[in-house]
Amino acid sequence: MTELRLHDTMAREKRVFAPADPKRVTMYVCGPTVYNRAHIGNARPAVVFDVLARLLRHVYGEDSLVYARNITDVDDRIIEAARVESVEPSVITERFERFYLEDMGALGVAPPDIAPHATEHVAPMVEMIERLIALGNAYEADGHVLFHVPSDPGYGALGRRDREAMIAGARVEVASYKKDPADFVLWKPSPEGVIGWESPWGRGRPGWHIECSAMIRAHLGETIDIHGGGLDLIFPHHENEIAQSRCAHDGSPLARYWVHNGFLSMAGAEKMSKSLGNVVTVGELLLQGHKGEVLRFALLSAHYRQPLEWSGSLIAQSKATLDRLYRFVGDSDVAAADPGVLEALADDLNTPLALSRLSALDDPASLRASAALMGLLTESSAAWFQGEGDARVDALVAARAEAKKARDFDEADRIRAELAAEGIVLEDGPEGTSWRRG
Ligand SMILES: [Zn+2]
Repeated sequence: MTELRLHDTMAREKRVFAPADPKRVTMYVCGPTVYNRAHIGNARPAVVFDVLARLLRHVYGEDSLVYARNITDVDDRIIEAARVESVEPSVITERFERFYLEDMGALGVAPPDIAPHATEHVAPMVEMIERLIALGNAYEADGHVLFHVPSDPGYGALGRRDREAMIAGARVEVASYKKDPADFVLWKPSPEGVIGWESPWGRGRPGWHIECSAMIRAHLGETIDIHGGGLDLIFPHHENEIAQSRCAHDGSPLARYWVHNGFLSMAGAEKMSKSLGNVVTVGELLLQGHKGEVLRFALLSAHYRQPLEWSGSLIAQSKATLDRLYRFVGDSDVAAADPGVLEALADDLNTPLALSRLSALDDPASLRASAALMGLLTESSAAWFQGEGDARVDALVAARAEAKKARDFDEADRIRAELAAEGIVLEDGPEGTSWRRG
């Protein structure tokens, strides 16, 4: 069996990966909060952990992995978006979950085995909070329930920050009802008209961190093999997940390996973030005519732990390489994957090395099989070159339908005009919209 090595954030080093039960490898990755379109930085963990999932299935067997990625569908940003549109929060969350799955699907990201939703797991969250209170790790104050950080001597092991840095970094509200400034919210009250559930502490809603702890316990068990997410989640989110779960589970660790991907930045800018206004969404990139597989290739061009600088030239290089590979593989069969490519991936998911070894292969059938390990070269060569342009029109037609549905008729008209200028005629019918080159 291929020996896999993963960098474990907790151990600060690469470790040989040995699952507790090779027949049931468990992996949990923190998923999206569904209130807006995913930007390309959000897509990085989805693609990275999709490759890791493919590798684990390749090594341990197709049915050996249980991969869960949650959907955060209760959150203050969702509540605010729903208020602005005067709709129920579920209207917002269903819309943006659908967009997320479409966008990730376009990048070749397979859906996880389990996609637990926070709103469907409030009962196990309440149960875990009750247990933490009974054990003296949490307390009720002013309608809130807070986790008492000083009650957990192991707190902070993942990020290894000192206490002052943690308090400053979490930007926690220093509320009068807190026993300690580092204490974080497990449950908070919901006023009339805001989404909420009955609980022993009155009508309210869960804090963010508790959902992952409760859903991991419900679906995967007390200790999982791999917990993943972006570097930005180490503190406070993962630190808090660890504290809640370990305290509720008699000291059992939450995860045996902690895997974190690095940031994505825009060329010439700092970290991509909405507040800096330097965000490009996956949907926008697809609308610009870039193929999902090109974006996927670009995301895998740097090692997952390293920062990745996103730029037009990175996309162009990725497209040129894929064109060359598709020309080379032609209509070849799929043979066994190349051991050198597999070895690179098994060494802490070294995708840049795997891609360079891939490019050097001289057997088309082996190249196709090796690329499949990373979810690449999934189309036939004919489809790859023939579809040029059509995918963009399909994406624009779909965007126009969404705009009409959201009653944004200006945007719908703008898209129709853009396509008309290229000689593309849209025909609206009862089955939806079809298009032809006029
Ligand atoms: Zn989480």
